Amino acid sequence: MNRLEGRVALVTGASRGIGAAVALRLAAEGASVVVNYAGRADAAAAVVDTIEEAGGSAIAVQADVSDPAAAGTLVQEALARFERIDILVNNAGITRDGLLVRMSDEDWRSVIDTNLSGAFYLSRSVGKLMMKQRSGSIINMASVVGITGNAGQVNYAAAKAGLIGMTKSIARELAGRGVRANAVAPGFIATEMTSALPDTVRAAAVASIAMGRLGTPDDIAAAVAFLASEDAAYITGQVIAVDGGMTFA
Ligand code: NAP
Repeated sequence: MNRLEGRVALVTGASRGIGAAVALRLAAEGASVVVNYAGRADAAAAVVDTIEEAGGSAIAVQADVSDPAAAGTLVQEALARFERIDILVNNAGITRDGLLVRMSDEDWRSVIDTNLSGAFYLSRSVGKLMMKQRSGSIINMASVVGITGNAGQVNYAAAKAGLIGMTKSIARELAGRGVRANAVAPGFIATEMTSALPDTVRAAAVASIAMGRLGTPDDIAAAVAFLASEDAAYITGQVIAVDGGMTFA
C-alpha cells in the first residue's frame, strides 16, 4: 500500500517499541519519516537504516519533547530536511508508577511533562504549519488507562486522559482548516515499557483480554497508519482503543 506517498511524518519516541513500529509502517506506506528519540541514538539510527534499506527516506533527531525549546528545534530540523510535516504522531511516553499517597512531585511532573506537555508543544507548532497547509493529521498515543483509570498510575492515567481531551479540542479547533486530530488508546502491548512487569501482572492482563493475547507494536502501527491516511478523511476527534477486547471502553 502506498497510502502515504509524498507525505512527511514526525514520530516522537520512535527509537523502539510502538513508535519504532509506527515509523516503519508509515515509511512502508510511502511517508518520509522523522524518527525522534530521547537518548538511544543507536536504536533510532537502526530504525532509519531499516527505512533507508527498504528504499525509504528518514532522519533521526534527538529531542526531549518535555522541553519546549527542544520540541521547537525538532520541528525546525524536520522542516530543514523535508520542508513540510503532514503527519504528527505524539507517541513519546514514560511511566513512573506508584500509589497516589506515595507518589513524589517529581514522578508526577515528569510523566505529565513528557506524556502530555510534550504532545502540546509539538501539536502547537506543527498544528500552525498544518493550518497553513490546510491539511494534516495529528495522532496522539493515549492509553486505555486514560479512559478507565488504573491503580498505581495516577500520573500516567491523568496524562493520557489529558491527551484525549486535548485531541478532541484540537479536532474542534482545526477541522475547518483541513486538519484532523485523533487518539489511539493501546491496551497491553509487548514493549520495553511493559516487559518489566511481574509475570503475575502479565498473566492477569492476558486473562482480561477477550482475544487472549498481548498486543504487538504492529497492531498499534496499523491503526496509526489508517488514521494518518485519506482512508480516515472523515474521522476526527475520535479515540480508537486497540486492545484486543480488554476494556470495551
Ligand atoms: P517504550 O518502549 O518505553 O519506548 C518509549 C519511547 O519514547 C522511546 O523511543 C524513548 O526514546 C521515547 N521517549 C521517552 N521519553 C522521551 C522524551 N522525553 N522525549 C522524546 N522521546 C522520549 O514505550 P512503548 O511501550 O513503545 O510506548 C509508546 C507509547 O505508547 C507511550 O506514549 C505509551 O504511554 C503508550 N502506550 C503503551 C502501552 C504499552 O502497553 N506498551 C499501552 C498504552 C499506551 P529512547 O529510546 O531514546 O529512550
